[in-house]
Amino acid sequence: MQQDTSEDDDSDPSAWKREVLERCQFVRKTFSCSPMLVAREPTESGAIFWFPYTGQNYNPSRYRFVPGGWNHEHCLLCGGHIVEGDTYWSNTGRDNVDLCEACHGRYLAERPA
Ligand SMILES: [Zn+2]
Ligand SMILES: [Zn+2]
Repeated sequence: MQQDTSEDDDSDPSAWKREVLERCQFVRKTFSCSPMLVAREPTESGAIFWFPYTGQNYNPSRYRFVPGGWNHEHCLLCGGHIVEGDTYWSNTGRDNVDLCEACHGRYLAERPA
């Protein structure tokens, strides 16, 4: 009997972050709580999706509306919390990416000119 032991062949866990950052356009924002939408069913890989509700249309049979549920962000690089009143850097592109002030500063410093 065969066991499925396939692992994510993601040898460098930060590689995808660098790739994502390459195509990000960051703007500085101040975080404030907002409603959020939470998927009712996990994806095939078992992840539950949730994202801030900004007035977009959604299917209530697929997503649950949680008032004030979006109460912090995570910095992509350090995983730190960005909470009410914090300034942070948010990607304006299609990827949902946020950086704290410290990581954004470091990222700019390391980014090739
Ligand atoms: Zn950070
Ligand atoms: Zn958290």
